[in-house]
Amino acid sequence: MRSKPSEPTLIRALCRDCGEVCFGSSIARLHVDADSGTARMSFPCPKCGVRGVVALPLPVVNQLRRAGVAIRLLTRPAEADEAHAGPPLDELDAADFARLLEQPGWEAHLQQR
Ligand SMILES: [Zn+2]
Repeated sequence: MRSKPSEPTLIRALCRDCGEVCFGSSIARLHVDADSGTARMSFPCPKCGVRGVVALPLPVVNQLRRAGVAIRLLTRPAEADEAHAGPPLDELDAADFARLLEQPGWEAHLQQR
């Protein structure tokens, strides 16, 4: 038996409220964490509409990938690991900054690397 590519693959998952529900793969979204390799699927429940998230083992991920489910790779931005000490900028800081940029010679204050 050959399945046509246009035929939607049905996915079964558990909704927290409705129990087991069935839906087409086109409404499911896969997220793979780039660091841990953990895969999760989020889907809107066809019965109650609440979005559910389930963890997926790798064989299931590959199966869904073949079925054409879009996979998003989640990566942590490098900025997330930077230490941010000190208070956040407020409006006065921004106003000062804008004023300083209007003065000639501000480039001299840039840090040399
Ligand atoms: Zn539901």
